[in-house]
Amino acid sequence: MKLHEYQSKHIFSNYGIPIPSGRVAANAAEAKQIAEELGGPVVIKSQVLVGGRGKAGGIRLAKSPSEAEELATQILGMEIKGLPVRKVLVDEAASIETEIYLGITNDRAERKPVMMASSAGGIEIEQVSKDTPEKITKVHIDPLLGLRDYQARDLAAGIDLPRLHWRMFGQIARGLWKAYLDSDATLAEINPLVITSQDRLLAVDGKMVLDDNALFRHPELAEMRDLDVEPEAETEARKYSLSFIKLDGQIGCMVNGAGLAMATMDIIKLSGGEPANFLDIGGGASSEKVAAALRIILSDPDVKVVLFNIFGGITRGDEVARGIIAALQQVDTRVPMVTRLVGTNAEEGRQILSEANMITAETLVNAAEKAIAAAEGGAGN
Ligand code: GDP
Ligand code: MN
Repeated sequence: MKLHEYQSKHIFSNYGIPIPSGRVAANAAEAKQIAEELGGPVVIKSQVLVGGRGKAGGIRLAKSPSEAEELATQILGMEIKGLPVRKVLVDEAASIETEIYLGITNDRAERKPVMMASSAGGIEIEQVSKDTPEKITKVHIDPLLGLRDYQARDLAAGIDLPRLHWRMFGQIARGLWKAYLDSDATLAEINPLVITSQDRLLAVDGKMVLDDNALFRHPELAEMRDLDVEPEAETEARKYSLSFIKLDGQIGCMVNGAGLAMATMDIIKLSGGEPANFLDIGGGASSEKVAAALRIILSDPDVKVVLFNIFGGITRGDEVARGIIAALQQVDTRVPMVTRLVGTNAEEGRQILSEANMITAETLVNAAEKAIAAAEGGAGN
């Protein structure tokens, strides 16, 4: 789960990281009001869950409350990378001398969190890593020992941070590590961490990604989820405990088991097609769950065919088939369906499906080929 900038910075500030004063607004009048309270120039920042807002025109400086109102009106009417802007953060504008990057994530290969700092702040770290990797300094953190003081100093030295800022930098690095650890985050990032013309360090931007599997331990963080900006399909999928990830292809996939889902996507690609999604309906899925999954897949206008690959173990073939039939009664669609059903009660399942005009396949390769052919010649969604 991604947090908005204003939410991430709020958490950061609880850990002693200095952030600009400011508040979030849902309309231009509120933005003006906040600018008046802050007094002085402000920055109006679109709150959308993607990076690169600055480049997209979603971050603007306003010198007066009336300009703040005007820019908030503009920004609240924008879409950034396809996401509508529903809120803006109105922050006291910082006078920036230097932009630094400071972030922490998991390094799976090292099996440890890694904290990274760079003198090339403000730019996406993936870009820096590609173009000028020598500008990134990394330290791996032993999760039992935590971030050691010498490691924070190594980072400061690595990015040639002036000595004057080392103490504060250390405090910020420790705060970021604690925020990351306590929240079960998979990413905590300040980009940029700036040095102001008053020689202060300030976290101007903030980003946190939380581990969904740990959210049950943090009801107060789970509550921060912004359903307004989440694709509806993801909200639906979560409601029915389905693992769903939208992809760009045309072949919708309904599969039980994450491994089987990945194998199905591989075979589709190997056969020359592109999957439209990853979906694991899980073991023992009820017909209600199957129906929900089918509705979610078909809500994607790119889907030209649906491929069911079901291995009946705990999940019974006849139960899945009944789910498919139930779903087809709820959704009006002309999208062709290809099924490959094996395992427990597969015979009964196939019988039910054959009455519903579905294309059946014996093997996964055969199913993928039939799905690709149907997508190319199919009626469309
Ligand atoms: P992002 O583009 O989504 O990463 O949004 P950021 O919050 O990082 O802002 C992008 C850029 O806008 C920053 O790198 C800064 O250069 C600039 N910016 C953001 N806030 C301020 C501010 O308060 N004052 C000034 N002068 N520039 C700012
Ligand atoms: Mn940024």
